Amino acid sequence: MTLQTTEALAAASNVYTWEPPDRVIAARYGLREEQILRFDLNTSPRAPDFLADALAGPFDPTLNEYPDSTYAELAEAAADYVAAEPGEILVGCGADEVLDIVAKAFLGPGDSSVVPIPTYSYYGVLTSQRGARLTAIPRLGPENAFALDLEAMREALADAGVAWLCAPNNPTGAPEAAADIESLLEAGAGLPGGGPTIVVDEAYIEFHPGSLVALRERYPALVVVRTLSKAFALSGLRVGYAVAARDTIARLERFRPPGSISTVSATVAAAALRRPELAAANAAALGEEREWLAGRLADTGCRAYPSVTNFLLCRIGSQDEAEALTDHLLRGGIVPRTFGPANPLRGHLRFTVRDRAENERLLEVLRARVDGRTT
Ligand code: PMP
Repeated sequence: MTLQTTEALAAASNVYTWEPPDRVIAARYGLREEQILRFDLNTSPRAPDFLADALAGPFDPTLNEYPDSTYAELAEAAADYVAAEPGEILVGCGADEVLDIVAKAFLGPGDSSVVPIPTYSYYGVLTSQRGARLTAIPRLGPENAFALDLEAMREALADAGVAWLCAPNNPTGAPEAAADIESLLEAGAGLPGGGPTIVVDEAYIEFHPGSLVALRERYPALVVVRTLSKAFALSGLRVGYAVAARDTIARLERFRPPGSISTVSATVAAAALRRPELAAANAAALGEEREWLAGRLADTGCRAYPSVTNFLLCRIGSQDEAEALTDHLLRGGIVPRTFGPANPLRGHLRFTVRDRAENERLLEVLRARVDGRTT
């Protein structure tokens, strides 16, 4: 089964999945697992240094008992980090669970769900899981920095249950203009019943600061979603959270499982949120590395769009060319993020910015193709 087939199958059966695990790719291409480098998942090259000390030290979370189901310590750390109150925070097992809770609370059969595409594909999956109708609004093209089609978005809000925005946007890497989002919040607020819930997924916000959390007081329909998986470099912990007005959080809380975050994850995540300088430093370093990598990628024929995140979306050519390049990369142990033939980003690949040695390896495999060598 090719990677594209995996994606097509997943789309058809509406199972959310990503590229196969290292073990599977290694077996398929006759490589050792440690030769596989993940450029597909927008993770950080390594966990923050404090983690090793914290886990080696007097770290003794109570594991025979359930976690505090209110996750008070974690909610307080998240609240302090975003300058909110703990009652304005909902914690979840990754941003994905938070998004799932939003869908459960605000979407049902017959509702419409507005998704500007291309964007994070999980919004569409959640929509279909809830039996809701997907209203996909194409973004403006790369020449307009993939901006929202505001007129079409405003129109679509009228009968929507939820509108999903991603700022900065995955997988384009482009920022979402705050003024555009505000204009949608304003348009929604003017609708009967206060309009749809407007999710602003800020998974990558630390790479391009300018959060909209402060707007929650003015717009109770706003739900900002965050994660520790990206700039905090803690994807394996599975911790995310939402920030919204108290009443909105109270509605979401009714759909939150009582103990989906492990005690270990909640403890480490709270400690990480108390060290925001580490996430900021990681984001700054990856931002510099991104610009270096974008320049080098161009030399290999991969043209990256401007990005404010820890990944680069590259135009490769036709879908066949993108698939051939993917095959070459996988043979060299490099896993890119691929897009299937039905995806608006067919003919593109997305690469996570990793550390210098790993990025050099990506470039080496790309150059080998240009030179007609195998790696
Ligand atoms: N939102 C966006 C835009 C993402 O890119 C991701 C990760 N791929 C998520 C949410 C999910 O994050 P988490 O690891 O916290 O579930």
